[in-house]
Amino acid sequence: MTKNVSILGSTGSIGRQTINVCRRNGIKVKAITANSNTELVYKQALEFKPELVAVFDEDAAAILQNKLKGENIRVLSGMQGLIEAATLQSTDCVVTAVSGSVGLMPTLAAIDAKKRIALANKETLVCAGELVMKRAREKKAEILPVDSEHSAIFQCMHGRENELSRILLTASGGPFLGKSLSETENVTPEMAVSHPNWSMGAKISVDSATMMNKGLELIEAMHLFSCNCEDIEIIIHPQSIIHSMVELKDGTVIAQLAAPDMEIPIQYALTYPERASICNEKLDFSKLSDLQFMLPDLEKLPCLRLAIECAKKGGTAPAIMSAANEMAVALFLNRKIKFNEIYKAVSEALSHIPATNADTLEKILEADSRARDFIRENYN
Ligand code: NDP
Ligand code: MG
Repeated sequence: MTKNVSILGSTGSIGRQTINVCRRNGIKVKAITANSNTELVYKQALEFKPELVAVFDEDAAAILQNKLKGENIRVLSGMQGLIEAATLQSTDCVVTAVSGSVGLMPTLAAIDAKKRIALANKETLVCAGELVMKRAREKKAEILPVDSEHSAIFQCMHGRENELSRILLTASGGPFLGKSLSETENVTPEMAVSHPNWSMGAKISVDSATMMNKGLELIEAMHLFSCNCEDIEIIIHPQSIIHSMVELKDGTVIAQLAAPDMEIPIQYALTYPERASICNEKLDFSKLSDLQFMLPDLEKLPCLRLAIECAKKGGTAPAIMSAANEMAVALFLNRKIKFNEIYKAVSEALSHIPATNADTLEKILEADSRARDFIRENYN
């Protein structure tokens, strides 16, 4: 079980819930990081007295350094700060809860330092899954999923790897479930981020609304559980009570159910192989009379369709898709493009940038930066 943790992205939705898990379980927080939210990271620093606080933005880091004068806390900035937090000697587990492919380099650094990684940052596995998993195997670094679906699959599969037939990856369907493309034409960022079951950061909320999130999760699952796209079926389950399932060879299906509460999978990744108690909401079966399941209609979900194509294609296609999507979602949140243009932008980036194999970090970083340049040049 984890005793000392570094939280990359401690000011975000997963980061703040990780802090709750640490408080509840007496886990020491040795390093925290943010992009620019100095106010919250300052409060967290005063509460936990970590060895290191890293703020990506240099100006914000300078402000924080000034505020923390007199405390015995190192303040760093930029990628170096994230990497130091990921490799801190006193830490045994790194929670990667930054949003986007900025998580890749610190995740690799944590693997090299043989840390346990509680991985929330799915974009890292989408852009460089093969490389990351290979490195983790070589270094014997443990990667434990935080994403609720992957935590569910991990728990259902445990010890049954040889009996597996299929993974059944569930999806809530997001706030626009069943809507046609013409009906989502004029949705606003406010509408897109109001998810029916989960309260999450803005980027993943928009990904849930386009269902690109399920495509990212499909690729994340392929890498985490060493399987092909064809071994995973996506099933829409709007209530988010079953967090995913595995089907065994004889047709037996094992599901993991829990209240939609990210503290449960976060805590499991931190306490694994033990389980700690949690006093948040538990499932009340008297209120669960209506659990629904349906297959996704890919005609209405072009981002998911695109992600499935990229999952099958492999190489740097998922890296191009994920980076273009990050940029397009940011433009949508800043009201520079419309909701349905997210798909258009990502699909154009994929047709303009040829995918190569993804066997080196350089190729992946180049694919990522070419996708970002493409969106910057064509959509700003
Ligand atoms: P948030 O947007 O709420 O938080 C992101 C965190 O990362 C913040 O601490 C933010 O700092 C920091 N950050 C953002 N950009 C950068 C950057 N360029 N450099 C350094 N730090 C940065 O995201 P979530 O917590 O929702 O999601 C985090 C990750 O977890 C994502 O990959 C997401 O897909 C995944 N995930 C999230 C779930 C959820 O329920 N939220 C569920 C499953 C997976 P600041 O506050 O200063 O901006
Ligand atoms: Mg998820």
